[in-house]
Amino acid sequence: MTVRVRFAPSPTGNLHIGGERTALYNYIFAKAMGGKYILRIEDTDKERSTKEFEESQISDMAWLGLEHDEGPGKYGEYGPYHQSERMEIYQEYAEKLLAEGKAFYDFCTDEELEAMAEKNKADGTPPYTGKWKDSANWEEAKLKVAAGEKAPMRFLVPDQDIAFTDHVRGEVKFPKGMVGDFVIMRTNGMPTYNFCNVVDDHLHKISHVIRGEDHVNNTLRQVMVYHAIGAELPEFAHVSLLIGEDRQKLSKRHGATSVQQYIKEGYLPEALANYLCLLGWSHPEEKDVFTIDEIADKNIFNLERFSKSHAVYDIEKLKYINAQHIKKLDTPSLLWNASSFIGNDPFFKEQTTVWKESFIDLYREKIQLYPEFLEKLKDITSDSVEATDELKEILSWETTPTMKEYIQSELSKVQDKYVSAETFSEWMNHCKKELKIKGKPLFMGLRGVLTGQNHGPDLKVLIPLTPVTILKKRIESLPL
Ligand code: GLU
Repeated sequence: MTVRVRFAPSPTGNLHIGGERTALYNYIFAKAMGGKYILRIEDTDKERSTKEFEESQISDMAWLGLEHDEGPGKYGEYGPYHQSERMEIYQEYAEKLLAEGKAFYDFCTDEELEAMAEKNKADGTPPYTGKWKDSANWEEAKLKVAAGEKAPMRFLVPDQDIAFTDHVRGEVKFPKGMVGDFVIMRTNGMPTYNFCNVVDDHLHKISHVIRGEDHVNNTLRQVMVYHAIGAELPEFAHVSLLIGEDRQKLSKRHGATSVQQYIKEGYLPEALANYLCLLGWSHPEEKDVFTIDEIADKNIFNLERFSKSHAVYDIEKLKYINAQHIKKLDTPSLLWNASSFIGNDPFFKEQTTVWKESFIDLYREKIQLYPEFLEKLKDITSDSVEATDELKEILSWETTPTMKEYIQSELSKVQDKYVSAETFSEWMNHCKKELKIKGKPLFMGLRGVLTGQNHGPDLKVLIPLTPVTILKKRIESLPL
């Protein structure tokens, strides 16, 4: 079987991480199975759909590396891929259902429908029991339509149980009578989601429908439509819902939910993709840091590894994964990425590429998100020290004043903007050999004197990155 999967967003807003996760699962599955990943734009809601949202959704997917094989901007033999361009097809299918007695025009008024729904709810019968479902009235309905009257078309729900097999949920069964005859074509001629989605999945030759668990109730209706149009069912995998730590459905309250927000906050696409994968799916070797390419393999990514239970969104885990991906980047790429967050800092801007790369490499292990580089930059540019208890302790050691004096006099001899790594090494050697300071008093002492701190990154790299003018000012401000 040729695997063909699709992501079918409605361009009525920005892509949020739930949608991005669905897209990602479909994309990886297609790659793992040597299949095709199709993008279909479900833009039948003319009022709420916009080109801007469509473009921003596509660009957010591109940021994550999800390029479609067929869809907008990419030729495919089953196009068009915008539902708004497929209206005649839906009309044709709807008319066929009507001709076969599987759908009917409904001329009930809103008041009638409301009263019916209320009564039927109390009686426990399906919501629609209007006279128009009775085939005895279909001739009358046809005449009304022929005379130019408008009405929605409803699907005649068969009186039978409905079942389908789901890769995540197993056998899903719905007893008959659960849903009423639902609208498939609105009065204005627009198809409804449960109808056109099935027509398209059938015509787009979709083999697997992978989407959120919140669609299971739609699938019930859609299975009926597949049967009615004589189409084979695709395989289904309804992935678990994303929830926050408070067990509520994921929303803005839980932090960033739109892809744009993650981009702004300094997440790597590789990291977000990696983390989203883990929300509802697990690696067979329990790995939690990987790239999409690494798992796009049929022995690794299979639908049976989806979890049935809700996936809890944990921002700390996402940050941890982001940090792991930052560690793996090569220096020029890391510098390039980080520059959009620190590139405008006046001090950073003035530095050479060598300086910048050295700075980035020094701190890459210590950050989770790019904007944290700004904080690290402050550690380098701050020109005074704070009289903390830790610093006071270092300064109270008997070796520290001698060392401070020596360093201060050496600093005054430096002509360049920075101390070279060699010169700094010589200073250390001098302290060791001539001043006989070793171990903790040497390393902690030097750090205290030159940075005012009792811990931090490798001094041999840090000091040559700190302007001499700043080192001098710090030493002068020591509470000694
Ligand atoms: N347009 C639908 C949505 O955005 C598609 C759902 C589906 O995958 O069938 O929810």
